[in-house]
Amino acid sequence: MKYVFLDRDGVICRDRPDYLKSWEEFQFIPGSLKAIRELSKNGISPILITNQSVINRGMVTEDGLAYIHGRMIDAIRQSGGRVEKIYYCPHIPENGCNCRKPKPGLIFSARKEYDLDLSAIPMIGDSMKDMLVAAEAGCGMAILVRTGKGKETEKKLEKKRVRVDYVADNLLDAVNWLITKWTV
Ligand SMILES: [Mg+2]
Repeated sequence: MKYVFLDRDGVICRDRPDYLKSWEEFQFIPGSLKAIRELSKNGISPILITNQSVINRGMVTEDGLAYIHGRMIDAIRQSGGRVEKIYYCPHIPENGCNCRKPKPGLIFSARKEYDLDLSAIPMIGDSMKDMLVAAEAGCGMAILVRTGKGKETEKKLEKKRVRVDYVADNLLDAVNWLITKWTV
């Protein structure tokens, strides 16, 4: 089985400056459902790696987040895709945890649970934190999408020395690129 790490906000669903707090606020980014279906069709399981400080900010409960994720997974399933697992960090920066991206804690949890060789796994995300965590955890590839914060991140890349293997217009573009790369 092949795996890919996916960020959630700005990659699968629209990012919101005031945080995504309910299913009513959840909007799939165009193409993201199809992208996840394509992963599934090609035997690639997505593992979500997402910072959800909304929990410790007191804006969403753990149950509330589980509900949002349940509905998201239902919609993904109905479109023919699947999600392997969602790892999220509930902390705010001041908590000093080791799981809030760009810290690699969530990815290390996934490695332990699935016995993963991280050097074989790409990370797809829209923020600098996603690109940094890919490097920090030793992921095989870092793929930036231009949705969400992606365009801003792309500009910052020129100044920072961060390895990015591909910049995609959106998740579907990223997945199409990855599948071609993996099946050559
Ligand atoms: Mg994001």
